[in-house]
Amino acid sequence: MRTIAALFSFLTVFPVGASLLAEDLRPIVETDFLCHGQAGRTVKHEGAVYEDCAGGHGPEGGIEPALLSLLNRFQEEAGKQLVVTSGYRCEPHNLYSWAAVVRKTGNEKDVSRQSYHRAGAAADFYVEGVRELKAYREYQAKLASLSKTLHGRKLPVPAVWTRLYAPDEVRDPDNRHAYPYIHVHLLGKPRRSLPPAIAPQ
Ligand SMILES: [Zn+2]
Ligand SMILES: [Zn+2]
Repeated sequence: MRTIAALFSFLTVFPVGASLLAEDLRPIVETDFLCHGQAGRTVKHEGAVYEDCAGGHGPEGGIEPALLSLLNRFQEEAGKQLVVTSGYRCEPHNLYSWAAVVRKTGNEKDVSRQSYHRAGAAADFYVEGVRELKAYREYQAKLASLSKTLHGRKLPVPAVWTRLYAPDEVRDPDNRHAYPYIHVHLLGKPRRSLPPAIAPQ
């Protein structure tokens, strides 16, 4: 009975589609986090020009190991492949992304200039084959719950902050796909302090 109850609660948390075996899943690694800048792109916002980077690079010192570990544990429990659409964002790419969204929404708070993406401490991802918002809400709860044991002891509160984006929300340039997605970042101070946001040209 206990096994059946456990299986039922697992299916309730991850109700969508067939699960993959853990060995079929590709682990989330540092190269999934490389900056998605594209050379030659610019955005004009309030008289300033924001120039994108050429992409393909990561932060000095790498991605936060706790974040990689959390995403891999989550992927194993979900039994589905995660796709990291935005990992590290260097200063120019983060500002370019910020300006691209603000120009559309007029809201300077929609994307952060101080984003933890700049420190390799944040990820945006979707789950392959899953498009239902309800499933993503459950994924958010699962991430929060898993993060309580992220640092080797059980914390009373989650060690991450998450936000769910619906497919019809204004997307930053890294997230122009048809899936909902989750932004997750580690709470507290990243291993590397965040660089100050640089001024646009
Ligand atoms: Zn970059
Ligand atoms: Zn994000």
